Amino acid sequence: MTDCHIHIERGPYTLDWINKFINKAVEQGLSEIWLLEHSYRFIEFLPMYNDICANNSYIKTWLAKKGGVCNLSDYLHLIDEVRNSELPIKIKFGLEICYFKNSEEFIGQLIKNKGFDFTIGSIHFIDHFAYDHKPEFWDGVDVDEAYKRYFETSIDLAKSRVFDGIAHPDCIKLYGHKPTFELTEYYNSLAAELAKSDMYAEQNSGSSRRTNAELGMSVELIKAIKANKIRIITASDAHCPEDVGYKIRQMEEISNATKE
Ligand SMILES: [Zn+2]
Ligand SMILES: [Zn+2]
Repeated sequence: MTDCHIHIERGPYTLDWINKFINKAVEQGLSEIWLLEHSYRFIEFLPMYNDICANNSYIKTWLAKKGGVCNLSDYLHLIDEVRNSELPIKIKFGLEICYFKNSEEFIGQLIKNKGFDFTIGSIHFIDHFAYDHKPEFWDGVDVDEAYKRYFETSIDLAKSRVFDGIAHPDCIKLYGHKPTFELTEYYNSLAAELAKSDMYAEQNSGSSRRTNAELGMSVELIKAIKANKIRIITASDAHCPEDVGYKIRQMEEISNATKE
């Protein structure tokens, strides 16, 4: 079993800190873990957020606190150190990158030849709407329009060919909002584009842990993903060692039981 989405952001760049994740993974019976950082933590990525900051004062304040606190070379040093150590399980290192359509070129340049094992693209913003930060941000939002833009942007992400995978593909449902229309066409288009770009999709337990949302992707989306022969990888989206492996086995069972 693999947990392909684990944030190391709450501790220092030391082998000691990484070992806490490894120990929990071994305890959970995982054979492989993929560790990562959010793009906004790196000073190099900050220019990408100028547009959202200019249009969303909450995010501007949030980013002033959380953004640009690391630099890529320190992260790359840690990766080297871990790669040169004897470890009981397989480890990969990567980035979870906020997707903005107008930053595809910028992202591509920034991650090129850095030696990351994987990069995933995430829809964390629907245009200027920070849909997953607080439930009250949905007050007065046109849910149908939000869903439409969420999936259009997801399809753009898949077409960009900048990333190896897409994170939490239908995370927009985390606070329980539902569109009035069927999502089947969006699911099929997204799956088709992921297949063309040779990307994988995450079965991610993060929002279920946070808000009690449905665990992982909707069954309809899993069906579309499977019909397009896309690889599904299980992900806890852990932000601390304790959450490593969260509901990984359960999600794997759901994916295996879902037929295209
Ligand atoms: Zn995310
Ligand atoms: Zn994440």
